[in-house]
Formats: sequence, structure tokens, C-alpha cells
Amino acid sequence: MRTYIAAAAAVVMLMLTSCAIGTDGGQSKSSETFFAMDTYVTVTAYGDNADGAVKAAKDKLTQLEKLWSVTDEGSEIYAINHSGGQPVTVSDNTAELISFALDMSDKTDGALDPTIYPVLTAWGFTTDENRVPDESEIAELLGRVGHEKVSISGNSVSLQSGVMLDVGAVGKGFAGDILTQEMKDSGVTSALLDLGGNIQMIGTKPDGENWRIGLRDPKGDGNIGVLSAADCAVVTSGSYERYFTADDGKVYGHIIDPKTGYPVDNGLLSVTVIASEGRLCDALSTALFVMGLDGAQDYRRQHTEQSFDMILITSGGYIYITEGIKDSFTLDGEHSRMEIKVIE
Ligand code: ADP
Ligand code: MG
Repeated sequence: MRTYIAAAAAVVMLMLTSCAIGTDGGQSKSSETFFAMDTYVTVTAYGDNADGAVKAAKDKLTQLEKLWSVTDEGSEIYAINHSGGQPVTVSDNTAELISFALDMSDKTDGALDPTIYPVLTAWGFTTDENRVPDESEIAELLGRVGHEKVSISGNSVSLQSGVMLDVGAVGKGFAGDILTQEMKDSGVTSALLDLGGNIQMIGTKPDGENWRIGLRDPKGDGNIGVLSAADCAVVTSGSYERYFTADDGKVYGHIIDPKTGYPVDNGLLSVTVIASEGRLCDALSTALFVMGLDGAQDYRRQHTEQSFDMILITSGGYIYITEGIKDSFTLDGEHSRMEIKVIE
């Protein structure tokens, strides 16, 4: 089942410029970097249809962002959040995204919760004016959180009073799946999409070798190691991406445990999920980060219907990696003393 990862190949740096057309391995190459969904996105494709496919992917992502932004007054998510409880009819893409998020929220026992937004706002993560809310405020806001407070029937979505929907934890992965499918449909057989660290691949590199995916060091600027992979998605969640230090010196990250309303603080620094679909990777990287080291392993044992591999990095300096990818991951030299533990 975990055939999408092959053995390690030679390290090749991907040189990405903001907009480039050239050749690579005898195939034409097209690459564009732009800002969308609150992050820098780079789409690189190879082959005859590369140029048109990259442009189409950029247009599509811009379109999806307009539908899914929680702050854009023209978005479908905004319409749902401000309808006063009235059902709102949304596009097929949005309905599928919401259904998926609710389903994953259910499966992860609420570790992923697309209604966490009011709590996130109280911590200031939506405005960057961070603060530590007091316990009573959090308790009150948690009363407005829960995937069961969202109803979806066909393309019609409604929320219970006070509930807010935010697809931030799954939107990029879901968008990546839509983009890669469209690129495949237009004939692209080799492409790499980087949506702010959400990596999605079509096939291998044009020369037939695996892609080399750098795994961010959650404690520093560089990479901790490199994963050799093809035709799959690799998505990382961690508190190092967005956090603030409060007056008491404590560091609070942007992923909230919906059971407590507090930012996750369980000894995990990052969770990387590798699977064939970006949506599953994105949902699980966030959810498993909430669950913690033991919870993540329990989840994987209990959900064998979801085929995925994972890499968990702990504050104690350990890297836990599932057996299926252990030979595909290579630590960078300066991190070679970190201890790798293989999860069955
Ligand atoms: P990123 O989008 O930064 O790459 P994630 O996919 O892990 O990382 O999504 C984190 C975002 O999801 C947060 O910035 C916040 O908007 C939202 N979020 C935080 N905690 C949760 C949660 N438990 N469930 C769902 N969404 C969450
Ligand atoms: Mg996510």
C-alpha cells in the first residue's frame, strides 16, 4: 500500500524562480511563485503542457482562495459565517471541502475542528494581536465549537448560532488535490506544487528520479532532513509556523486543542504526513499534532483504512518515523545525532 515512496536518490536542489520557463532533462519547464491562501506558493511543471498548466493552476488557486477565505467578504465561507443561521448554497468544491473537514473532525474525535475559529480569534491568531484569554472566556467560546454544530445537505450549509467555520487547516491540501488533478487532466506527468510547505507531486522528476523534499527544522531555519518521494503529498504542521511569546515568557502556537481551547503543548514540535492525497495529509498533520505522540500512533493503528506515513519530531530531539518511509528519509549532516525511532 505504501508504494509511492522509493529508495533514496541523489540530492538535487530545486531552483525555483518567481516565473521561469526553461528546460530540464530535455523537457520544457515552467515555474511560478505567487502569494495565495496566506502563503507563498510555487507551482513547477514539466513537459509540453507545462506553461499553460502552471498558469491554469495559479488561476484556480486564486479562485479557490476567493471561495474559502474566512475574512474576504465575497467568499462562500464568509457568507456561511454571516448568514444568521440561514442555509447558504455553496459551490461543489466548497461543499466537498466542508464535508471532508466535518468527516475528518468526526474521525479524529474533534482533534481537527473546522469550528475552532472563535477560540483562535480570542488568542489573536487571526489578527496578529496576540493575547492570552482567561479561562472563563475560553470556556464560553468552546460552547460555540464542535463539528456537530455544522449541517450540510447537498450544497446547502448552515451553522448553529455563534458558530464560525474556518477551513484553514485543510484548505491548502484540498486545493492541492484539485490543482494536481487538473494538471494531470491537461496531460502533465511531472510537477511539484509547494503551497507554503504543503508539497504535492505529480509523478517523478522529469528524469525519472524521486523528488527530494526538505523537512523543515522546527527549531531552526534550515532543513532537518530530506525525504525521497514521488506522486504523493507531504504536509507538515507545527507550532513553529506561527506563535507568540506571552508576557509570562510562555510560547503559544497557532494550533489549538479543541478539547481545552489552549494552544497545543504536548512535546511535539512538528508532524509530517505522507499520503497519496493532500487533503488527508493536511487534515491529519493538524489533527495528529493535537493528539500528540501516543495519540497519533493510536490513531494510525485504529484507522488502517487511511493509508499514510508520518514523521513526528519531539522537543526531546527524537524523530519518530513510520516503517514504510524509514529508508526514504535522510537526516542532514548537522542533525545526524538526532535519534530516529521507527514506528511499526
Ligand atoms: P498551516 O495552515 O499553517 O500550514 P495547518 O494545516 O496545521 O497549518 O493549519 C493550522 C490552522 O488551522 C491554524 O492557523 C488555524 O487557522 C486552524 N486551526 C488551529 N487549530 C485547529 C484545529 N484543532 N482544528 C482545525 N483547525 C485548526
Ligand atoms: Mg493541516
